[in-house]
Amino acid sequence: MTYRREEHTFIPEADLEGMSVETLAVRAGQVRTAQLEHSDPIFPTSSFVYGSAAQAAARFGGEEPGNIYSRFTNPTVQAFEARIAAMEGGERAVATASGMAAILSTCMALLKAGDHVVCSRGVFGTTNVLLQKYFAKFGVEISFVSLTDLRQWQDAVRSNTRMLFLETPSNPLCEVADLEALSQLAKSADALLVVDNCFCTPILQRPLEFGADVVIHSATKYLDGQGRCVGGVVVGSNALMEEVYGFLRSAGPTLSPFNAWVFLKGLETLPIRMRAHCENALELATWLEQQEGIEEVFYAGLKQHPQHQLALKQQSGFGGVLSFRVRGGREAAWAFIDATRMISITANLGDVKTTITHPATTTHGRLSPEDKAQAGITENLIRVSVGIESSADLKKDLSRGLDALKG
Ligand SMILES: *Cc1c(COP(=O)(O)O)cnc(C)c1O
Repeated sequence: MTYRREEHTFIPEADLEGMSVETLAVRAGQVRTAQLEHSDPIFPTSSFVYGSAAQAAARFGGEEPGNIYSRFTNPTVQAFEARIAAMEGGERAVATASGMAAILSTCMALLKAGDHVVCSRGVFGTTNVLLQKYFAKFGVEISFVSLTDLRQWQDAVRSNTRMLFLETPSNPLCEVADLEALSQLAKSADALLVVDNCFCTPILQRPLEFGADVVIHSATKYLDGQGRCVGGVVVGSNALMEEVYGFLRSAGPTLSPFNAWVFLKGLETLPIRMRAHCENALELATWLEQQEGIEEVFYAGLKQHPQHQLALKQQSGFGGVLSFRVRGGREAAWAFIDATRMISITANLGDVKTTITHPATTTHGRLSPEDKAQAGITENLIRVSVGIESSADLKKDLSRGLDALKG
């Protein structure tokens, strides 16, 4: 990393080449002011001043790079963008006000009326609504396919297909998509492969390395990891991100400097948090499988998971989210959830605190009965986003749920 003492600023690109994601999480993109602070500074300002009228004109005209207004650029937001871009191995990142704003900005920038999108069926519920209710209104066509069935993706591609959109592993059943195969399909169709990498984060999976064109995050989840802020980010090539940035600058779903600062702090501990999430989740998945009253456990770290080998190839860990079916129906699932005392009953995920939810009536409640059936969202399914508490304490709390099944 080049440290220009005269400017008191770290230049992110230069010497970060070849550094591991753990180092980048702590060091990449840091801004340092003349105060020589060790931690990331925060710039809570809406606008910036210029040394002269000529400099203002040069900034506005684009001849001189620099800050103008925080809807366009803010040093704290840029530090977050530089850090996450380095971690994902992308040329540039564009931060947004939420994960949904990241998806909106990507689609607004890269699609037009008459284009067709192929999307995996299990994507985040609001992504589904955004595409089907709003983008459809402006003449963008959408087809939904099974995440893991390459044949369905191939069959769905048409001459006007411009984007393949997916999440892997899927929520809540932890199915894993073959990123390399889908990126080849996207290339042959002259379409972009867009991956929502929220569940894995760049610590466990870097989709750009497997040929994806764009990576999206809800920073609200693991990147913060401590439930403090809503935000998002899009990562990709300079050319694609210039388009996304152009939309953001015009439409305004920009990330606030305060939230960017919180995410910068979150990224520093992301590598060790993800390791702890993965360890706990694997231990709980293995343990749950052996418990009476549990019919089936879904976690890509389990050897019998249908895409276990694929997950081993493209992920360096299996993530913190798992789900399982209890014996019985909705009543049994709710009794299990209500019997826990420490684990938070909330649909949020990616937090250091373990959370538990009933997908059929919360995150996936809006799906029609047919869509639920097709997506495997049964009434006896429970999703747990495993936090970083002690696994012994988590087992103790989940045991209360298991006891409720017997009662
Ligand atoms: C939460 C989530 C989003 C939306 O992010 P927000 O920050 O809530 O707008 C998108 N994709 C996935 C996979 C999510 O879990």
